[in-house]
Amino acid sequence: RKGNVIITGASSGLGLATAKALADTGKWHIVMACRNFLKAEKAAKSVGITKENYTVMHLDLSSLESVRQFVDTFRRSGRPLDALVCNAAIYLPTAKEPTYTAEGFELSVGTNHLGHFLLSRLLLDDLKKSDYPQKRLIIVGSITGNTNTLAGNVPPKANLGDLRGLAGGLNGLNSSAMIDGGEFDGAKAYKDSKVCNMLTMQEFHRRYHEESGITFSSLYPGCIATTGLFREHIPLFRILFPPFQKYITKGYVSEEEAGKRLAQVVYDSSLTKSGVYWSWNKNSASFENQLSQEASDAEKARKLWEVSEKLVGLA
Ligand code: NDP
Repeated sequence: RKGNVIITGASSGLGLATAKALADTGKWHIVMACRNFLKAEKAAKSVGITKENYTVMHLDLSSLESVRQFVDTFRRSGRPLDALVCNAAIYLPTAKEPTYTAEGFELSVGTNHLGHFLLSRLLLDDLKKSDYPQKRLIIVGSITGNTNTLAGNVPPKANLGDLRGLAGGLNGLNSSAMIDGGEFDGAKAYKDSKVCNMLTMQEFHRRYHEESGITFSSLYPGCIATTGLFREHIPLFRILFPPFQKYITKGYVSEEEAGKRLAQVVYDSSLTKSGVYWSWNKNSASFENQLSQEASDAEKARKLWEVSEKLVGLA
């Protein structure tokens, strides 16, 4: 049978390119988990994914209620789940004030981390039940959360501190809207959320890899300077960023190439090792990359897991 994969945020950028790359193999049915149904349908058509290869299901990661509803809808569809790709994200670098999810969490961390945390925790059972030979749970990371790289050292740097803001509810009322308890900074909130994504992947690996055989992975697909992720940035940045990445840092990668990379993490039989953060070199060859000290801190990963469980209502 065909594999079944859920991709969050498959309506644009990396998620759409990955859906396309997987559909092109002829071996996958893609569940596009998207907040905008019509946009997702149009996106699938625009890249030529044929009807029988995808299903759009509504998911708004900035509402935990919507996450739970999505899981119900998916289960009722009767499809087995063989791979889950947590790809969707928002980035609000110019926001002066925090905005919030339906449950009142700062929007970047609430969407990118907490929404995906609940989704992947709930769907873990579905992955366990699948009889597919290689089951995978992938959470897209980023170089920007990794302070052991040049890109990760551009201020404001990611830093989760002692998680006091998160533990306080990340609501800007009785706690800070930032994980570390500091002043709101939209660019930092995004980077923090990516550190959470990478820590969550490793904690999943420690807790569930042996018992379930599921491969847990994260990745940095390269700098895809053309995606909608930068839609909130100032216009000058949006003009200069792609050529800067292409010619100066040489980290630029097309959406199509990035989609092929993420698709490899979904199905390639040479990428079955669990707990790995994948990157690609200039020749597009994959390698196991090193995470920064904070993004590989096992104690912090455990604490993040426990605090997140409370916030999403699992503990
Ligand atoms: P895009 O903005 O093009 O895609 C993001 C997707 O997430 C969109 O489909 C968007 O939906 C969706 N999304 C946003 N908020 C929600 C929500 N509340 N519920 C459901 N879906 C939502 O960005 P990219 O393709 O660049 O980003 C994809 C991933 O790649 C992210 O995890 C990002 O951190 C990561 N990444 C990107 C890099 C880059 O250089 N671009 C580099 C490294 C990592 P909609 O279409 O409705 O807006």
